[in-house]
Amino acid sequence: MEETPPKYCKFCFGTEEDNDMSFVHPCRCRGSIHWVHNQCLHMWFSKANAVQQVMCIQCQTRYQKQLTLKSWRQWTIPRLGIDFFGVLEISTDLWITYRTILGFVGMMNGTKGIFRELILCTMWKCFVASGRRFCFYGNLGLRLASSIFRISIDDYDERREITARLPTDMHWEQISRSSVLNSQ
Ligand SMILES: [Zn+2]
Ligand SMILES: [Zn+2]
Repeated sequence: MEETPPKYCKFCFGTEEDNDMSFVHPCRCRGSIHWVHNQCLHMWFSKANAVQQVMCIQCQTRYQKQLTLKSWRQWTIPRLGIDFFGVLEISTDLWITYRTILGFVGMMNGTKGIFRELILCTMWKCFVASGRRFCFYGNLGLRLASSIFRISIDDYDERREITARLPTDMHWEQISRSSVLNSQ
C-alpha cells in the first residue's frame, strides 16, 4: 500500500507534529497545496478579496461553508471590516438599485421613457448584480453571521463521497443545468 505523505499546511508549512491545529482539504488541489490548517484558511479569508473568499483561485472549486450556532455566551458583536471604498461601493449599489426601481415603476406608469430606463437596468445588471458584488455581499452576510455562528469549511473529499452516495437516478448535474432553473 502507498504510504500517505505527511500533511503540511500550504500557508504556514506547519506539519502535524508542530501543533495540534486541525487540517482541512477544501478544494481539488493536490500535492504540496493539498492541506491547509482550518485556522490559517480563516486567517486567509479575513485578508483575501471577495472572490478568493468564495473559491480557490488555483482550481476554481467553490468552498462549501457550514454554519453551526455558537453557544449564546460566545456571541460577539459583528466586525464587518468595511473600509471607505466598501462604504462607497455599498452606497453606489443602493443608489443605482433605488434609481432602477424608481425608473422601472415610472416606466410602467408611462411617466418615464423606456430606452433610458432599459439602459439603467442594464447598468444595474452589470455593476450591482454582478458575480463580484454577489461575492462581496455573500461574504458580508457570512461576516455578520459569524457573530453567532461558527463557520467551518467542508472537506472536499468527504463532500464528494457524500455526493457520490446520493441516488444516481436524480442526475443533480442535469437538474442544476436545466432550463427551468436557469431561465432568468
Ligand atoms: Zn497553517
Ligand atoms: Zn484548489
